[in-house]
Amino acid sequence: MSKSIAVHTTSVEETEQFGERIGRALEPGMVVALMGQLGAGKTTLTKGIGRGLAVDDLIHSPTFNLIHEHRGRMPVYHFDIYRLTSPEQLEDLGYEDYFYGDGVTIIEWPEKVMHMLPPDHLEVRISAAGDERTFEIVATGSLSAKVLEKLNQ
Ligand code: ADP
Ligand code: MG
Repeated sequence: MSKSIAVHTTSVEETEQFGERIGRALEPGMVVALMGQLGAGKTTLTKGIGRGLAVDDLIHSPTFNLIHEHRGRMPVYHFDIYRLTSPEQLEDLGYEDYFYGDGVTIIEWPEKVMHMLPPDHLEVRISAAGDERTFEIVATGSLSAKVLEKLNQ
């Protein structure tokens, strides 16, 4: 069983389509950590993931909220913690209800809180050059490995 895959895209639409595939493969309880610089494509990928999860409203870059909740074929919790000042702030939000609930959690800028993520999560490491994006998807446990398997099919 492979523990990581790499996917390349060359346009926003291609990234959204790939996100849609991820969204279709996700299982309740999955946490997706999106790692990459500003402009890497984290929000673009999240829009696609939302499409794959049949989210009924628009996913966008958060303004002041650290979390946006959406309704799809399961609850979708979109975190952007760029502005997080301390991990305690996440505790105040009651993050465990999201990370360990029966929805899907997607986190932009997870780097500061890696130690708070469930051990079994899906890591997406994004690198960018021009319009090309490389998505390295890493499974860290059996649930995320199942998602990876589905993406490989
Ligand atoms: P982030 O959330 O990581 O800051 P966004 O998804 O908001 O990034 O923005 C990605 C930016 O990169 C957009 O301006 C988009 O037009 C541009 N872009 C260029 N090529 C791609 C690609 N292949 N996939 C995704 N975005 C791309
Ligand atoms: Mg973003």
